[in-house]
Amino acid sequence: MPDCIFCSIVSGDIPANIVLRTPEVVAFTDLNPQAPTHILVIPTEHHENAAALAQDNPAQAAAVLAATQKVAAEAGLTDYRTVFNTGPEAGQSVFHAHAHVIGGRNLGWPPG
Ligand code: AMP
Repeated sequence: MPDCIFCSIVSGDIPANIVLRTPEVVAFTDLNPQAPTHILVIPTEHHENAAALAQDNPAQAAAVLAATQKVAAEAGLTDYRTVFNTGPEAGQSVFHAHAHVIGGRNLGWPPG
């Protein structure tokens, strides 16, 4: 998708600190981390958000979820939070589906 920053990370046109790459997903550290560990897991296909991904490509949605567990384990996390912000009012700012994997500190609830 032209002008999609996460598609550019998938293609390698924009650099990122990539921690996992498979044909289905790419995972990289967040540029603006909210916790000691903050990794983004994205599908290699462009879908606007997690809801569209789940509807249009459930297999790739499952691959994203599986990858969140893998990167969390590789980061040494047993307790962590997986977040899919879906829509601007939920805090989504990049409109390519992504999971945040956040951990390494106590996380409050409810989220803001
Ligand atoms: P969201 O607000 O849920 O859409 O999350 C988007 C996330 O992408 C934010 O946490 C940003 O810090 C992060 N982000 C934006 N651009 C980049 C980038 N080039 N590399 C890594 N993380 C990024």
